[in-house]
Amino acid sequence: MNDIIETIREKDPGEREFHQAVTEVLESVKPVLDRNPEYRRAAVLERIVEPERVIIFRVPWMDNEGQVHVNRGFRVEMNSAIGPYKGGLRFHPSVKLSIMKFLAFEQVFKNSLTTLGMGGAKGGSDFNPKGRSDHEIMRFCQSFMTELFRYIGPHTDIPAGDIGVGAREIGYLFGMYKKLKNEFTGVLTGKSLNWGGSLVRPEATGYGCVYFAAEMLATRNENLENKTCLVSGSGNVAQYTSEKIIHLGGRVVTLSDSSGYIYDEQGLDQDKLEYVKHLKNIKRGRIEQYAEKYPESLYFQADPLLDHNPLWNHKADCVFPCAFENEIQQKDAQNLISNGVRLVCEGANMPATLEAADIFMNSNILYGPSKAANAGGVAVSGLEMAQNSMRLNWPAEEVNNRLKIIMQSIHQTCLEAAEEYGEPGNYVAGANIAGFVKVVNAMLDQGLV
Ligand code: NDP
Repeated sequence: MNDIIETIREKDPGEREFHQAVTEVLESVKPVLDRNPEYRRAAVLERIVEPERVIIFRVPWMDNEGQVHVNRGFRVEMNSAIGPYKGGLRFHPSVKLSIMKFLAFEQVFKNSLTTLGMGGAKGGSDFNPKGRSDHEIMRFCQSFMTELFRYIGPHTDIPAGDIGVGAREIGYLFGMYKKLKNEFTGVLTGKSLNWGGSLVRPEATGYGCVYFAAEMLATRNENLENKTCLVSGSGNVAQYTSEKIIHLGGRVVTLSDSSGYIYDEQGLDQDKLEYVKHLKNIKRGRIEQYAEKYPESLYFQADPLLDHNPLWNHKADCVFPCAFENEIQQKDAQNLISNGVRLVCEGANMPATLEAADIFMNSNILYGPSKAANAGGVAVSGLEMAQNSMRLNWPAEEVNNRLKIIMQSIHQTCLEAAEEYGEPGNYVAGANIAGFVKVVNAMLDQGLV
C-alpha cells in the first residue's frame, strides 16, 4: 500500500490533492485487500489510481474588448467499470491536473455508492468566470466544447456542473454540443427544466447532504430541530443545504464566499435565504452584502495569513462545509471539537485535510465524508439521465423521494461495510470500502482492460 502511494508521489510529484485523496482511500481499504488476495494479484490498486484517459486541451477565447485569452481545459476519465464516465466540470482559477484527478478519483467511489451505474470523471478549466459578462462566458463555453465534444456522449461520458458551472454554463455548453453533433441527447446533466433538466437537480446535493446528516443523527436518536449549524460557501450546495436545514427546524448561522463570511445569530429563515439565492445566482454579488441588508448580522473578511478559518470557531452543534477542498484545517477541527460540535457532514468535496479528518474520526462525533454525504447531486444527475432516455419528466415529489431513498441507502451501506470490516460507526471507512468493492469486482469481471 505504501509502495503505491510512494510510486504515485514519484510519478506525479506536486499532485498534492490527488495524493491526499488516494492516501485516504487506500488506508481504508487495507482490510479488504487482506481478506481478498485476488485483488492484490490483479493489481487493482495500481489500476484504480491510474486514470483510464486524461484529456488536456487549449481553450482560446476573446473578451469583450477584443483581447484574446488562452485557458487550459481538462477531462479526466478515471474509471468506467460500472458505467459511462460521469462527473462535473469546474471553472475556477485553481483548476489544475492534481485537482481534476483528485475529484475524478473521489467521483468513482461516490458514483458507486449511489447504486446507479455511473463511472467516474471530472473536468474543467482554470478560467475565472468572476466578473465576466454573459457574452464572454458564452464564448468561453463554446470554445471549451469545441474540443470536449469529441470525447463525451450520452453513453460515453456525461459531464455536469460544479464550482463556477451552473445552469447558464450548462446551457451554453449544451448548445454548442448539439450544433457540433447535430443531435439532442442527454449528454450533460444540470440542464434547465424546459429542455431536459430534472426537477430537484439544483437542490439535490444540498438536500441529499442534509438527508444524510439526519440519518446519522437518527442513529443517536437525535434530529436537526433547534440545532445550531455552521454552513460555509454560499453557492449551489450551501444554499440548498441551508434550505433543508431550515425545513427540518435547524438554525443556520453562517455562510461564506472566498472574500469572507457572515454570522447571523438569529439564524437564516426562508426570506433571508431567498435574498442569498438572488444575490448569488442572479446579481452575482458578494456575501458581504448580506450584512448590509440584515444589520443584525456581522461580516468578517477572510484573512489568508491565518492558519485557521474563524468561521469554524463559532459554537455550533452541526457543521456543513459546502465551499472548497481543504477548507477545514487541523486547527479548525480542534476548535470545532473543543466547542462541542456533534456532527460534521461534508457538502463540498474533501473539505477536511487528512489531519482534520483524523481528528474527527478519533473523536466521538458523527462524521459524514463527502463521497457519501454529497452523492445526492450525482444521484439525481443519474435520474436526469434516466428521464432523458425515457423522454419523460418525473414530478418533483418523485425525484425527491428517490433522492431520500438513495441517501438512506448510502448511509446504510456505509454503516454495514464499516461494521463488516471492524470499524463500526466509521463512515469514512464504510464509504471507501463499499465504493471500492463494487468497482474492483466489476474491473475483475471485465478482465485486464
Ligand atoms: P458554487 O460555485 O455554486 O459555489 C462555491 C462556493 O464556494 C461559493 O460561495 C464560493 O465563493 C466559495 N468558494 C470558492 N472558493 C473558495 C475559497 N477559496 N474559500 C472559501 N470559499 C470559497 O459551487 P458548488 O456549490 O456547486 O460547489 C461547492 C462544493 O460542493 C465544491 O467542493 C463542489 O465540488 C462540491 N459539490 C458540488 C456538487 C454540485 O452538485 N454542485 C455535487 C457534489 C459536490 P466565491 O463566489 O467567492 O468564489
